[in-house]
Amino acid sequence: MSDAPAETIVRAENIERVYGSGENKVYALRGVSFDVPSGMFVALKGRSGSGKTTLINCIGGLDKPTSGRVILFGHPINDYSEAQMTELRRHKIGFVFQSFSLVPTFTAFENVELSLRLAGAPAKERSRRAQECLDLVGVGKWARHMPFELSGGQQQRVAIARALANSPRLILADEPTGELDSHTARQVLGLLRDLAHQQDVAILMATHDPLSLEYADQVFELKDGKLDAVHARQHVVH
Ligand code: ADP
Ligand code: MG
Repeated sequence: MSDAPAETIVRAENIERVYGSGENKVYALRGVSFDVPSGMFVALKGRSGSGKTTLINCIGGLDKPTSGRVILFGHPINDYSEAQMTELRRHKIGFVFQSFSLVPTFTAFENVELSLRLAGAPAKERSRRAQECLDLVGVGKWARHMPFELSGGQQQRVAIARALANSPRLILADEPTGELDSHTARQVLGLLRDLAHQQDVAILMATHDPLSLEYADQVFELKDGKLDAVHARQHVVH
């Protein structure tokens, strides 16, 4: 990382998200504010139903806050059209999900290459970069394999390679270790932490996995749609 002050990649300003209306109103987020600087691995912790997925989706423009603002890379996204938001997601944000969400009929390589294709990268560059990303996350030699031939941990690495393909400044991960055993979860968490630090990517990860707290630089705790506490990393992981 450089010595320059870290750029603010995500700014959440007083985000509220209310679902439904009348007696069926659900207050998923009740005024959440925080910043995520570049190069920082931030965990968003909280029980099931505390609003983690809603918050990740609002930040990635997959859902819209009822009030408050999301500012990405210095620009408020509230007024972006769906087309502008799709463009931003394709080029500047990587997503990682609990269930990997790989295309089952594509090889590992093709899954990564697809996100480069969607972003309009030329064919030669796509091949080079897809292999580079698979190598970076440690599954380079599995490039020609189909997802069903890979373990859960390997599939999640491919999904992380896909998220990295377009060199995003931001990765949003929703329970990325939710389907992994604890040994594999540690490897994936270590990988995410290293990527944040070495590639200068901001990573915001929703999780209820207690292991995550050993790897994240910062932990935001959500309780009933509110930010309850912010912790700096307490453990040193070697
Ligand atoms: P988490 O990811 O922490 O488990 P969620 O963000 O999924 O939490 O959910 C937060 C709250 O919002 C929950 O009470 C959930 O039932 C509610 N919720 C989420 N999405 C919707 C929706 N589309 N419609 C109605 N309620 C929703
Ligand atoms: Mg969730």
